[in-house]
Amino acid sequence: MRKFIVAGNWKMNTTVPQGVELAKAVAEKSKELPANVELVVAPPFTHLVCVADALKGSKVALSAQNCADKEKGAYTGEVSVDMLVSAGCSYTILGHSERRQYYGETDAKLVEKVKLALAAGLKVILCVGENLEEREAGRHFAVVTEQIKNVLYQFSAAEMASIVVAYEPVWAIGTGKTASAEQAEEIHACIRNVLEEKFGKAVADDTTILYGGSCKPSNAKELFAQPDIDGGLIGGAALKADDFIAIAESF
Ligand code: PEP
Repeated sequence: MRKFIVAGNWKMNTTVPQGVELAKAVAEKSKELPANVELVVAPPFTHLVCVADALKGSKVALSAQNCADKEKGAYTGEVSVDMLVSAGCSYTILGHSERRQYYGETDAKLVEKVKLALAAGLKVILCVGENLEEREAGRHFAVVTEQIKNVLYQFSAAEMASIVVAYEPVWAIGTGKTASAEQAEEIHACIRNVLEEKFGKAVADDTTILYGGSCKPSNAKELFAQPDIDGGLIGGAALKADDFIAIAESF
């Protein structure tokens, strides 16, 4: 049975005290959520230890937003998977479009990062998605299929149990433009088929596939009602505990 997950990507927002306050509010409000919905928050690196403390005793999982593509050593400014685990993370987001677009994150680099994350015992939320130009050229299925094949086809069926896919059309991220439920569902179904081709139906059926891109309380219900949409990766709306929880209540 695949899990329903709502994950909040805080990006480069909040100071440490603000992040701790937000995490405490999410932890408190999450008590009323049904047990089949998993909540995850992904604060900036600087917040992880304090947020882990704020989440203690709750069911909210802690995620990083990225990790280094090297194990350890002379890589100034980087944060390793072992550091993330020791800070209390059980997840890391990888391949967010902002990392791909602004920091040259390639599929090849992502394979290295996913390998390290899984070896350290982290679960991975792998982001894929087309940009506006690719969507307008009708290439969205091809782009997303290629991203999935380039990265996830390098892993085994057993490793897929620790991988969540997030479909995030780049044109919908932070723009207020949401993919319609139909547009999102057809890509999610395509991703599940691409996974099935390599790993078989059972693995494809068990893989959680999240939607991300201007998801908010007002549109989450329709998106999450789609058969292949198993939750959301939430940016802006994850910065308000009430909105984030309202999205998780949309199942
Ligand atoms: C994101 O960046 O992962 C995201 C989905 O952002 P937003 O919800 O703000 O569009």
